[in-house]
Amino acid sequence: MPRRSRKWNNRRSAPAGSARFVPSRSPYAVRARALLPGLPVLTGKAIRLFRARALRDGRRPVHAGAFLRERAIGFNCHPGEFARICVHELFHFVWWRLGNTRRRAYENLLNEEFRTGAPGELGWSAEWRKLELTGADIKSRSRSWREYCCESFCDTAAWLFSGVKNHEEYTLPSSCRKVRRLWFARFAGDGALPI
Ligand SMILES: [Zn+2]
Repeated sequence: MPRRSRKWNNRRSAPAGSARFVPSRSPYAVRARALLPGLPVLTGKAIRLFRARALRDGRRPVHAGAFLRERAIGFNCHPGEFARICVHELFHFVWWRLGNTRRRAYENLLNEEFRTGAPGELGWSAEWRKLELTGADIKSRSRSWREYCCESFCDTAAWLFSGVKNHEEYTLPSSCRKVRRLWFARFAGDGALPI
């Protein structure tokens, strides 16, 4: 057995029935599995992890991308950012299968933050979208609004579950962080999450 596997088995194990990654011995899969004990249980078919250079989201270069139907995540990030980015991308799969009731409940939480004028976010991916939103976007639940809600959900999950406690992109006030933590404990931490 390779040394890395033995170390993994001795120190920590992923919850039973949780997410699987392929190719299973790739460095990305090993690092992703090491994150699972800190996450809610995620259940679903295996997700392929691969290196993807020059990923873009429209005009902007991005560190990773989730390909939901293909069940794959491409990474283009610094190793030091892997934990936060991997959790963010995994939660794109969670959001996809979360269901309208829970998605709308999270939207309502964000609406309340806008009502009180709360600045900041828990990752740049959500924050730049938040900065570009107009009142009409929020009122009409436009595509920009719904994309913002999704990115905010994923960035919040990364803040909560990646083990990265401090980061320059965590700009949301602590009062709002507390509300989001409670929301996740209530809605997203209740049993296994399908991905
Ligand atoms: Zn994202």
